[in-house]
Amino acid sequence: MAEPLPIEFANTLFAVRGRPQDGLTTTAELADWLTRNGLTGVGPGHGPGVGAGAGARPGSRASTSTSTDDPAIGAPAIGSRRSSLERRSSAPEGEPATDEPAIEVTANDLLRARELRDAVRAIAHAVAQGVDPLHVDVNTVNTIARSTPRWRELHWSPQPHATVHTDATPVATALSTVADEAIALFTGAARDDLRACPGPGCVLHFVRDSPRREWCSPGCGNRARAARHYARSRDRDHL
Ligand SMILES: [Zn+2]
Repeated sequence: MAEPLPIEFANTLFAVRGRPQDGLTTTAELADWLTRNGLTGVGPGHGPGVGAGAGARPGSRASTSTSTDDPAIGAPAIGSRRSSLERRSSAPEGEPATDEPAIEVTANDLLRARELRDAVRAIAHAVAQGVDPLHVDVNTVNTIARSTPRWRELHWSPQPHATVHTDATPVATALSTVADEAIALFTGAARDDLRACPGPGCVLHFVRDSPRREWCSPGCGNRARAARHYARSRDRDHL
């Protein structure tokens, strides 16, 4: 079951049989996550109708206006722009012939993404525990949210529609979108339903979409019931 985007991002830290696993350790894994979550952006050739495509998350896609690319604007961090621009300019134009990720991810992008993931996860955990998050985590979300200036442009043909533009790289734009949606989540009504899964060894968070929901997944519910059953029968054996 899909959680809100920031929680899906936080849940890239998960556990298998109680052992923590990190699903965001390589640039390829980040590219894959961004692709699976519809955050690869829209290139100059994709035309109007941004954000209205089938399966697109509302407001989550952005077209990069490469004609106005300015390395001085929206740079996520020193040193990252140059390498990503170089990599972009050396990439072949048009659709990739293979099933390579549709987004270029640098090592610095991965660092930023992990920073954001850990901050969102820490804030989600604090919210679930009913305590205030740390300033450092709030600052990280804010820094990444404001790192990518975006604007909408009005078009009147073939019908009135808006396109979203940015000077930043697709990854910077995507991370800024996640940060922005995290701000919306943590300040919206869903905050009250944010939970840390109490499943044995589980480290995931979820937004409770029904009052009866206790677990991140049916699997966690089954494991918890099995553990309770085991504990009960063990206690009986020791009577
Ligand atoms: Zn769980």
